[in-house]
Amino acid sequence: MTDLHPNRALFDQVMVPNYSPVSVIPVKGEGSRLWDQEGREYIDLAGGIAVNSLGHCHPELVAALKEQADKLWHLSNVYTNEPALNLAKQLCDLTFADRVFFANSGAEANEAALKLARRYGWDKVGEEKHEIISTRGSFHGRTLFTVTVGGQEKYTEGFRPAPGGITHIAYNDIAALEAAISDKTCAVMLEPVQGEGGVRPADKAYLEAARRLCDKHDALLIFDEVQTGVGRSGKLYSYMTYGVTPDVLTTAKSLGGGFPVGAMLATAEAAKCLVVGTHGSTYGGNPLACAVAGKVLDIVSRPEVLAGVESRHTRLKNHLEEINAKHNIFTEVRGQGLLIGAELTEAWHGKAKDFVNAALEEGVMILVAGPNVLRMAPSLVIPEADIDAAMVGLERAIAKVLAA
Ligand SMILES: *Cc1c(COP(=O)(O)O)cnc(C)c1O
Repeated sequence: MTDLHPNRALFDQVMVPNYSPVSVIPVKGEGSRLWDQEGREYIDLAGGIAVNSLGHCHPELVAALKEQADKLWHLSNVYTNEPALNLAKQLCDLTFADRVFFANSGAEANEAALKLARRYGWDKVGEEKHEIISTRGSFHGRTLFTVTVGGQEKYTEGFRPAPGGITHIAYNDIAALEAAISDKTCAVMLEPVQGEGGVRPADKAYLEAARRLCDKHDALLIFDEVQTGVGRSGKLYSYMTYGVTPDVLTTAKSLGGGFPVGAMLATAEAAKCLVVGTHGSTYGGNPLACAVAGKVLDIVSRPEVLAGVESRHTRLKNHLEEINAKHNIFTEVRGQGLLIGAELTEAWHGKAKDFVNAALEEGVMILVAGPNVLRMAPSLVIPEADIDAAMVGLERAIAKVLAA
């Protein structure tokens, strides 16, 4: 039964075909380096899609996981547990939040936020206050509710009928939001930086307007910080870089540093709608997940780590600008902290994947964000030498694609 050398061909035999992974299979990671089955080394600027916030197998995270593994793995929410209580306290102390709900992923955290918003409208006014406003280009996860709130048609195609009462408007467009919002709106959901949608940061004035309009119409402002959260923006959460505070915030990805965990943070006023029995999750608040996430938060909230994100941002951005000065390949390099997008010039639109594949050949892992944008979301503590080496490889890859 045991296949001693599982390979990419096996994927097509035994896996549902919804993914199309590359042919190399990484088997070991340390810091920002990965090794595949053949022992080839890679520098990881993909970071598990903004998840491996402290790189691979960070010794303090490994220790936290092992320590908890010897004590207690799982209880369910019939009981509470110490790691979950500690993590919730940390999150409340470090952010605007008064209350925390734990989930296992970004989509689940968003599902909780959206259900909370519906209950908020229902409690305050009644069922007519159910409308949810979201933006085109946004991404909120793959459950049917979150994919419907997300602003990318291709992800709901073939899955209708979808949940109703959801309106999509242009991102960063204050007038569109003013026109769409009403007293029937229960929530406005926004990413402070649209991640999957191309690494597009919100304008400060836009988030400020969203805050003002939500207050005016008694709607909840939900920030989806699944991708931007836990230090990635250079502050613990991106809302802190804008000085605009939501009522509800969702966080996952970097929170577990590679261990699956998600959380919804809320004000006491919003949280009180989810009374006993209204929502739940078997694994939410799992002790292993919370022990690891607690350690991630400990480390990431150290001032030197957050300052390091800013200096690495500048270093990475400067490298990309230098590459662009030579090859004239990007229209813009943008983003916050260590979530960076480089938009390809028109001639290369639709070809982002070619650059990702070429980079992999050069031993550098990067991501796309849509068909036109190269995305980088490395470890927040990636050694500067690894950034430099990765940029040498990326430039070689770009030169090869241009010459092909
Ligand atoms: C990745 C992502 C999600 C979905 O998270 P999962 O853990 O894959 O469910 C939701 N929102 C944003 C902004 C994301 O980047």
